[in-house]
Amino acid sequence: MSSNLNSLFLRCLCWVLFLCWTGGALATSYEAQLPAELNSSPRLCDFVPCGEVMPGAVEFSERKGRPPYVEAYSRVAGKRQLMGYVFLSTDIVDIPAYSGKPVVTLIGMDAEGRFTGSKILKHSEPILLLGIPESELVKFTRQYVGRFVGDKLEIGKSGQDDEAIGLDAITGATVTVIAQNQVMLRCGAEVAKQVGIMKPVLLPAAKFTAAEAPRSWQELMDEGSIQFLGIKPEDVGKEGRGQAYLDMWFGYLNQPAVGKSLLGEEGYASLMSRLKPDEHAIFIIARGSDSFKGSGFVRGGIYDRVQVRQGMETHTFRDLDYLNLYSVAASGVPDYRESAIFIIRSGNFSAAYPWQLVLLANKVDPESGARQFTSFHREYWLPAKYLEGGRPLVERTDPTWLKVWKGRLPEIIGFIALLAFAALVYGQRDRLVRRSTRKDKRWVSLPKYFIWTASIVFVGFHAMAQPSVTQVLTWFHAMLYQWKWELFLSDPLIFVFWWFIILSIFFWGRGLFCGWLCPFGSLTEMLYKLAGRLGLKRFQFKLPQVWHDRLKWLKYGIFYGLLGISFFSMGLAEMLAEVEPFKTTFLVGLFNRAWPYTLFAGSLLGISLFIERPFCKYLCPLGAALALPSTFRWFGLKRKQECGPCAACAVGCGSLAIDAAGRIDQRECLLCLDCMVMYYDDHACPPLVQERKQRGKAGQSLTPIGSDGYYIPIKPLPAGAPAHKSAVAARSKADPTMLTDPALPPYADHEGDLIGLIAAETWDHLWPWSHHGFQRQRAVQGLGLALAVTVTVMWILAAMGQLSEGVVLGWWFGWSLFEVVVRLGSKPYVKEGPWLGRRYRKADTMDMVCYVGFKNLLIGAALFILLKPLGLF
Ligand code: SF4
Ligand code: SF4
Repeated sequence: MSSNLNSLFLRCLCWVLFLCWTGGALATSYEAQLPAELNSSPRLCDFVPCGEVMPGAVEFSERKGRPPYVEAYSRVAGKRQLMGYVFLSTDIVDIPAYSGKPVVTLIGMDAEGRFTGSKILKHSEPILLLGIPESELVKFTRQYVGRFVGDKLEIGKSGQDDEAIGLDAITGATVTVIAQNQVMLRCGAEVAKQVGIMKPVLLPAAKFTAAEAPRSWQELMDEGSIQFLGIKPEDVGKEGRGQAYLDMWFGYLNQPAVGKSLLGEEGYASLMSRLKPDEHAIFIIARGSDSFKGSGFVRGGIYDRVQVRQGMETHTFRDLDYLNLYSVAASGVPDYRESAIFIIRSGNFSAAYPWQLVLLANKVDPESGARQFTSFHREYWLPAKYLEGGRPLVERTDPTWLKVWKGRLPEIIGFIALLAFAALVYGQRDRLVRRSTRKDKRWVSLPKYFIWTASIVFVGFHAMAQPSVTQVLTWFHAMLYQWKWELFLSDPLIFVFWWFIILSIFFWGRGLFCGWLCPFGSLTEMLYKLAGRLGLKRFQFKLPQVWHDRLKWLKYGIFYGLLGISFFSMGLAEMLAEVEPFKTTFLVGLFNRAWPYTLFAGSLLGISLFIERPFCKYLCPLGAALALPSTFRWFGLKRKQECGPCAACAVGCGSLAIDAAGRIDQRECLLCLDCMVMYYDDHACPPLVQERKQRGKAGQSLTPIGSDGYYIPIKPLPAGAPAHKSAVAARSKADPTMLTDPALPPYADHEGDLIGLIAAETWDHLWPWSHHGFQRQRAVQGLGLALAVTVTVMWILAAMGQLSEGVVLGWWFGWSLFEVVVRLGSKPYVKEGPWLGRRYRKADTMDMVCYVGFKNLLIGAALFILLKPLGLF
């Protein structure tokens, strides 16, 4: 019977996942395979439908210009007429969207500089795959048609700027549309300037002071006269071999003091004699495994890897703009392999204003192996002392993530206030539960209902800030491939939420988030409570404990499954993460999606009327991911010795987290505080009821209840005397404050010797074997030792640049699994409560999985953090 039900459940789950997957696969340009020639062929329009973005055009030129574009022609009376220009966004800019990858867009612009159309060729935005229909992005880009490229187009209605034209955003995809707006405007402006539609903005020329410049390289760097642009192999998707991809130093040479420090008096005079007015010289020296000059450079051609960008102006270099840099006069110059002086020949360039050195490169996507255009830049601005009047005032545009934060400031403040309120209420739990009774829990439930309502309405439906397991997967991948703060900062509420979740898990476990703040969890429990009030109570039920104890593992399986799949295909993992009904419920709306999604989310909400939080208990991969570290929360709930045989509070535990021995499984507990109300209630908690009655019969007064959950003794106990315990408690052997029986590791015997204890404990974390375990499981422990040696060699090879991070982390993962087996045989205990405390208990398999997984994650992260800055990883 039980296996039948299990398999039926699994089959239903697979079916739903399949439907979700096929529904998602209908998206047209998500991770679309684009022809390899798209980036390189001169015949751009042979590979993409240029006619769609330039209606009426019948002919297209080859790619021309830098950055490239094609000309579009019509035929009128047999004559060819220029209609406008078509260009590919990734030829021009490298602006990542929410996924961290660019949205590849084909853009059309007429000869007057008005957009004629745009087509999304490829995107990697998960939200457009599974949450918001892709047509929304198409609708968004249609707003540009007919707009002049020089117009001030902004997302949303601009209240302060009369010149700004507001564009309708896509709710729930703000980051994507902000990035796309930048793409459209930057690409359009680059081409418009090249073809003469937009006139360059003339900046006032720099006037130099007679300030002295330092003579040493380091001092010039310290004051900012020389800048450094460093690119690591992993930045371009290559494996690190202990050598930089490119380390580049550069600076501006026309400024007399700086120029003389770098070139010497003669060198500077010689260079200046070759420059005309409005010509500017910069120098670059570099070392690394690649070349900034580019291997494809031929005489007469263009240096296609370096550019100088100032405002909307981009300056590229031909061979005539190149001069040899034979030596650098400043003392202490680093070793370099390549050097050059480039001449910017333009009256639009001004050394008084900041400019950027840009290096263009092809990046290999480590997950898909595809190549994509990318650029790296570093700002240069002459120090104020070399400019008459100092540096001019420059209005800077904020990065995308900052714009989003500023735009949502009131929401962010409101959200932080909500989180602070929840933490404050929970921090006062002892007072609240003491004021409540089993029959009247208003002191706990009213603030909780308020927080639930705010969480559902404001966090879930309004701000769409429901955390998801996909964010956990993204972290793993970001750590593995490339950590970008921008990626995480792009959604401020989610960013703040995750910091709160991480901190609260360390203190109290996942319960504060899951039980009080998760929008979906709150919604389902609210439905359950409402249904109970509306007369459905008699139909409400809990699964039998035995079933619950089996089914609760499903969510862990789903989480590990998603994590494993994500290493093969993040796209597939994101699709399968639709097992979370969050997007359907909050982002898109229950009735705005294909029926399988609606059916799935609707069913879960429907079942929630009868079973308390069915999704949280059995399916939620996010809940599972958060439950793992909850094993090591610092502060648990209070228990009395009698809780063991009594377990009366288990009846009211909607999470079924209290076992027959009265022990609380912190991974399952959602901190509803029901058991804590009972703990202090002398009309509900059996030992307290008993003592109350005894005192009543004996005519004794009732003293207040102490923090240990017992009446304060009428006669003060002598110091050091054991606390009051009933006869029942005295008979109980189990310690209900711990999920399993207490244990005492041999190393924990260092009485009074703190340093010795810390050393012994550190060793215990690092060395999973024991003499006793070795005698019992010779083969397993021997194999474990061999594996550990192999993993150590792997780390050393990786540090020497001989192995990729992926291989090392694969081994680390494999070793962690094996360590669980080794420790269960040799050191089967875990710590209970604060990490600095000295309470230990026996470990079951799940405890050990959580302990080893968490410990090795911390060790791995520490090794990464240590080795990366040293250039060893
Ligand atoms: S288990 Fe999942 S849905 Fe439930 S409260 Fe936790 S995160 Fe939310
Ligand atoms: S009753 Fe106690 S153990 Fe059960 S969920 Fe609530 S706080 Fe946790």
